[in-house]
Amino acid sequence: MPEGALREVRSTCPYCGVGCGVLIKTEGGRITGVRGDPDHPANFGKLCTKGGALHLSAKPELLPQVRALRPELRTQRDAPRRAVRWDEALDHVAQRFAAIIAEHGPDSVGFYISGQMLTEDYYVFNKLAKGLVGTNNVDTNSRVCMSSAVAGYKVTLGADAPPCNYDDIDHASCLVLAGSNAAWSHPITFRRIEKAKARRPEMRIIVIDPRRTETAELADLHLQLLPGTDVALFHAMLHVMVWEDLVDPAYIAAHTSGYAALRERVREMSPAAAANLCGLKAEDIVTVARWFALGAPDATPQTRQPTLSMYCQGLNQSSSGTAKNAGLINLHLACGQIGKPGAGPFSLTGQPNAMGGREVGGMANLLSAHRDLANPAHRAEVAKLWGVADVPALRGKTAVELFQAAADGKVKALWIACTNPAQSLPDQALVRRALQTAELVVVQEAYTTAATVPYADVLLPATTWGEKIGTVTNSERRISRVRAATKAPGEARDDWEIAVDFARRLEALLPARLNGRLTLFPYATPEAVWNEHRESTRGRDLDITGLSWATLERDGPQQWPYPAGASVGKARLYDDGQFPTADGRARFFAEAFKPVAEPCDARYPVALTTGRLRDQWHGMSRTGSVPRLFNHAPEPCIDLHPSDLARRGLSDGELLRVASRRGDIVLPARATDTVRPGQAFIAMHWGAEYLGGRNAQGVARLGVNGLTLPVIDPYSFQPELKHSAVRVEAA
Ligand code: SF4
Repeated sequence: MPEGALREVRSTCPYCGVGCGVLIKTEGGRITGVRGDPDHPANFGKLCTKGGALHLSAKPELLPQVRALRPELRTQRDAPRRAVRWDEALDHVAQRFAAIIAEHGPDSVGFYISGQMLTEDYYVFNKLAKGLVGTNNVDTNSRVCMSSAVAGYKVTLGADAPPCNYDDIDHASCLVLAGSNAAWSHPITFRRIEKAKARRPEMRIIVIDPRRTETAELADLHLQLLPGTDVALFHAMLHVMVWEDLVDPAYIAAHTSGYAALRERVREMSPAAAANLCGLKAEDIVTVARWFALGAPDATPQTRQPTLSMYCQGLNQSSSGTAKNAGLINLHLACGQIGKPGAGPFSLTGQPNAMGGREVGGMANLLSAHRDLANPAHRAEVAKLWGVADVPALRGKTAVELFQAAADGKVKALWIACTNPAQSLPDQALVRRALQTAELVVVQEAYTTAATVPYADVLLPATTWGEKIGTVTNSERRISRVRAATKAPGEARDDWEIAVDFARRLEALLPARLNGRLTLFPYATPEAVWNEHRESTRGRDLDITGLSWATLERDGPQQWPYPAGASVGKARLYDDGQFPTADGRARFFAEAFKPVAEPCDARYPVALTTGRLRDQWHGMSRTGSVPRLFNHAPEPCIDLHPSDLARRGLSDGELLRVASRRGDIVLPARATDTVRPGQAFIAMHWGAEYLGGRNAQGVARLGVNGLTLPVIDPYSFQPELKHSAVRVEAA
């Protein structure tokens, strides 16, 4: 390619789990533009505001301000880091890890990685921790995003496999959006929903959300329930379905187990009882139960129409996250609303590659290719694949637990890659204590603006969107190739490559784990990593042994499973009524409704929920460098109902102090009736650097997640970011 030539490179958007295809325009090696890939099945050429501004976040002139360009190291906590060569940085880290492991054991180190990573990056980190180091202490920011969806699928359907696809939107007669502001968080999918509704106005749309969001504006019925009461609502819907004979007894008998226990569980949860708990009208609960069960107001059990549900963080980020996910899936199973066009439970993935990470087993309680960590035969299979003697049986520490253990001095070395826990995890005081207490903090990161970077003893500069190659999986199990359009800046390297380079150094210091091999990491390219991952899926529910990079190159993005010999992936799962459980039946999950972990009281009377804005992403390390993305929301604020402001003598725009039991922040009020009285909403994107400073007691303010609490779901270990009790007062 001659210098200065124009070209377009096919890749994907690095933001949300819709997984849109992009064409990156370059000129003379510089990224100059981006447009939607007209051939990608996730978006057919469309991009949302964030995706359409990707090129503006990749301007070379931004590099010195925002990018990590050289490895940096400090050997004393209070000294500044100095720039060093890669060899020096990685030698140092390998020696420190080996020494800590030798003295305190493999569980004294932990890796905290990211749903932003590519599948190949994820695979290497997972093998590094579980195979080479011998610890399951490898978790990811997907823990705060999708782990309740994982657990919900597993306890009901038997595997972490979203059964639906985006085409189902066009077949659904009734569409339920639960705990999802898709209009802002998954805009291209939402455009498709809008289009379907415009074409078929009779399609019923139900939105279940404590806020009246832009998504709710499209609803035929918006259930503005009280935060955390979803399980009561789902149980009451099933109560109505049972009472009115709307369930599908033939499907239940042929394809499920555990129905009697669930029916007993929902017996007492009448619409009136749930209305009281949820703050809803009983007749609305009856209406949505009928629409959901039958798919259309005028249908009967004999003429049942398809119902699709799409859901996200409102169900996931909860101390009852698994029960919420399973409660919704119960409804699909009870009515046979699964395994056919337009029907089924469809979790919307938050991050671009949370799915890929789950597929390689890159979490503390998972194993490669949907194997079960508690199953000795599965552990033996993985050990054999990797060529190690064993994979540890003990579940590793999940995200919140990992940082708690570091704060307690039990985890002594933390390796954080491609994520920003000093902003994104709940109870920031705890997280920062962990980062200060750990003996060694390694941060592998593309952006120096990330709040975690100042805590790094070793900073390893990583490549990012437009610079790296690999694969990602979107919400509908569709695997796409990611391609580089420009060179890595400075000395930045790919995440998988950094992990491999470190692993080979550690192998020399931990030869016993090699089991006689020369190396466990014989990869020269990410494609070699991909091929090993492919092989690990052989015979599993997500078998992709037929999906080579050459196939992806030739045929474009494909859905899994895609076993050897296949010519196309599987668009929809469970169409044969067979589930990946021991007896082939799906299981009803009869968990009782539990209230939120921290109920509001007289001292903290306001229910705070957090969430995304349309035009920002995570901690804004990328979107924050694009001025036009601030047009939609230029600054943080707290949304409160006008009556709550009036009752306290406060006014719209006034600076408020918002305090929870863990900390406080100061930000302006925004009067809005999109939240109910007694509730508040703050966008998650602004951290301590915007909302910081010190309070009257001299305590540092730590952003929105300085307020949130670290209570986790007992099955998914996902923290309750969607509800904390706060009080508001004039600043
Ligand atoms: Fe990117 Fe998601 Fe927008 Fe698509 S919808 S362009 S994946 S942020």
